[in-house]
Amino acid sequence: MIITMQFGASQAEIDAVCSVIKERGFEPLVMPGEDRLAIGIHAALSPDDRIFLESAIGSLDGVSKVTQTSSPYTLASIEFHRTRSSVAVKGVVIGDGRFTVMAGPCSVESYDQYRASADMVKASGASVLRGGAFKPRTSPYSFQGLQEEGLQIIKQVGDETGLVTISEVMSADMVEVVADHVDILQIGARSMQNFPLLIEAGKSAHPVFLKRGPSATIDEFLLAAEYVLNQGNPNVILCERGIMPLDRTYTRNTLDLAAVPVLKEHTHLPVIVDPSHGTGVARYVAPMAKGAMVVGADGVMVEMHPDPKKALSDGSQALDPAHFNSLMKELKALATATGVRM
Ligand code: PEP
Ligand code: MN
Repeated sequence: MIITMQFGASQAEIDAVCSVIKERGFEPLVMPGEDRLAIGIHAALSPDDRIFLESAIGSLDGVSKVTQTSSPYTLASIEFHRTRSSVAVKGVVIGDGRFTVMAGPCSVESYDQYRASADMVKASGASVLRGGAFKPRTSPYSFQGLQEEGLQIIKQVGDETGLVTISEVMSADMVEVVADHVDILQIGARSMQNFPLLIEAGKSAHPVFLKRGPSATIDEFLLAAEYVLNQGNPNVILCERGIMPLDRTYTRNTLDLAAVPVLKEHTHLPVIVDPSHGTGVARYVAPMAKGAMVVGADGVMVEMHPDPKKALSDGSQALDPAHFNSLMKELKALATATGVRM
């Protein structure tokens, strides 16, 4: 932590800052500057210390700015964990240098639609089957998902095909029932800061797939992950799925591919990219999925549908079977060319 004093701060004001630091048990390091003096605290501060010192010092006379030099999250940070983490579920490993493809329809619409999707996903070599049973829709008049019936279909198709399944849970009270039917709990972008949900998911034994909120900063995203980790669940997978766009004319969101190397620098958690919600346009999904591999993502989550024209949600961004298969072939070729395991 570095405290920058105001220009012309008095010695008494400098001393007051130093005594707050000393009272908390740390040694202040006074660094005279050309115009402004700075005071550093060279120590590993706990989150409690950080919050206390920031508010106690920030309001003192003569203080200009308090800057945190270490990350606000701990458990999610690379410096805490030292090595990259991976998540293993039913024999599928997410992370650890592999590129995992998670694919399936936006929504589970019927047994036949979901089973047909699963067969295509499996035949393509992808290992995780997605599909929403509870859908967060902007309008209450849009299809809300098959809900409990959808969960049963996911369970049945997961059992029949052996694919690892992932589906969204929208509220804390539904964590248990969703976990009874699916392998990975998805927390959607709109729920990234639903703190009771994060806490409940953190108590679950299931891996948690956390999507970045459309307006969330990297720190907010990692602090949301911290909520889950802090409850004792180490199996968190991050997903970049596009942030608020400047212009919705061409894409639904702005896929922040730069978030991948940024996250890799700051966290040990695996990072997946969702180019479907990230662009909202089926023909942009393949280029961004390949981009995700090149920038170092641990995989992609892609929406596909046996017949996108008939999809009950997100049809315009769903790949049809032919385009999904050709994307899988292109990804495999790119993986071979770039030394990525797939
Ligand atoms: C989804 O994956 O179907 C979904 C609703 O995604 P997001 O939360 O990223 O909008
Ligand atoms: Mn969708």
